[in-house]
Amino acid sequence: MESQIHKIHQQLMSKEISCTQLVQERLGLLKLNTHNTVNSLLDTLAIELAAKVDSKIENGEEIGLLEGIPFGIKDVFMVKGTYTTASSDLLKKYKSPYTATAIQKILDAGAIPLVKENCDSFGHGSSSENTIFGSVKNAINPKLVSGGSSGGSAVNVAKDYTVFSVGGDTGGSVRQPAGYNKIYGLKPTYGRISRFGLMAYASSTDCVGPIAKSIEDIRIVLNAMSGKDVKDQTTYKSEKISKENILKCDKVKTIGYFKNFIENDAIDTQVKSEFLASIEKIKAKGIAIKELDFFESDTLVSTYYTLAMAETASNLSRLDGTNYGNRIEGGSLKDTYSVTRSDNFSEETKRRIVGGNQVLSQGFSDDIYLKGLNIRDQISNNFEKDFKEVDIILSPVTPNSPPQIGDSLKDPLAMYLSDAYTVGFSLGQLPTITVPQGTETGLQITAAKNNDELVLKFANFLKDMI
Ligand code: GLN
Repeated sequence: MESQIHKIHQQLMSKEISCTQLVQERLGLLKLNTHNTVNSLLDTLAIELAAKVDSKIENGEEIGLLEGIPFGIKDVFMVKGTYTTASSDLLKKYKSPYTATAIQKILDAGAIPLVKENCDSFGHGSSSENTIFGSVKNAINPKLVSGGSSGGSAVNVAKDYTVFSVGGDTGGSVRQPAGYNKIYGLKPTYGRISRFGLMAYASSTDCVGPIAKSIEDIRIVLNAMSGKDVKDQTTYKSEKISKENILKCDKVKTIGYFKNFIENDAIDTQVKSEFLASIEKIKAKGIAIKELDFFESDTLVSTYYTLAMAETASNLSRLDGTNYGNRIEGGSLKDTYSVTRSDNFSEETKRRIVGGNQVLSQGFSDDIYLKGLNIRDQISNNFEKDFKEVDIILSPVTPNSPPQIGDSLKDPLAMYLSDAYTVGFSLGQLPTITVPQGTETGLQITAAKNNDELVLKFANFLKDMI
């Protein structure tokens, strides 16, 4: 699909549409939608900002590429004065006192925020059913899940309710819903975009990521959000990625894929045959293919969940009804903490807090947490070795097609295992994008750290090829 941002920019500049019209139309679609994508609408702010863009155009002033472009925000980002609920009872009435850096940068570029989007509570989930706002329904088949945790964001983009959305990806939350709804979703290199103002899930893998319908739109939004931020010491300075650079794919000579992801009982036979057919098409273009050895999916999933649960238990310990959250009074201070957290966190979130505290507790942490950290180092070393031999690693996004609504809630272990192909790249902190091609839930293109440009280049190359 062509760039929606460029198209709308032209329409605004030539006065074919006004920004107010555009924003009102999209807000109307969001209001009427039956996919449960909306936690709160930012209608007053959006209409006010749209009027400013219109008056600039009326006065003959130039507007930037993102100016007047309507977008959505996963409801885990702080936007000053708006409800930021993380789709939880605990923060149902919480209003952000400040704005996340990534969002502020897009606002500074003039884009118009329409909506705080439904998601799995605190990012905990792969289906966007772990939410107090109702399960998010898939854009293509509403009987199926939207994927998660950035499900509302992916569906809003897929249905054209927003032009792009900003999601958070800790273990696949941008890539997997993008795949389930047949659009693009990028998890950049860890640290490329500031996490300041993104509610912390697992701080060592949390990334901010754009979701859009074209690679060009992903590029534009990525450039706008990237950069060093004094408020997040893990960020680094990065070069802007130019449009021209991603149009030619001259640097990719060898593609690798993990044999054990594909030769595995857990993968759906159709996903497997579609993936292998894509590999053949790439080979036919003269690119060398290399089979790689990697950790078993079970090891990846258990390492990711061990560390993610430990980090989330620690990060969420501040939510006790004292400084934040919906306080429920008990007979004593301890009771207050206990009842506030027991009644306001979802079952899935409590499962992770209990699991994470176990991982970190005295007597267990050496065996579990330190072992998890050690395997994570081995995973990173493995990637470093692989990227000496291949330029890109290609993989399916998920082993199976999207489940029916209701199924994942009944079987959390099956849900964790559905993350098998996304979590390894998160542990490696690598740049990786989902493209809506190749298998029913798309393909994942991954490169070495800081090679975000190469990921976009190869995505662009595949666009015309598969
Ligand atoms: N599904 C994974 C989890 O529940 C990833 C979620 C995410 O990236 N926020 O942890």
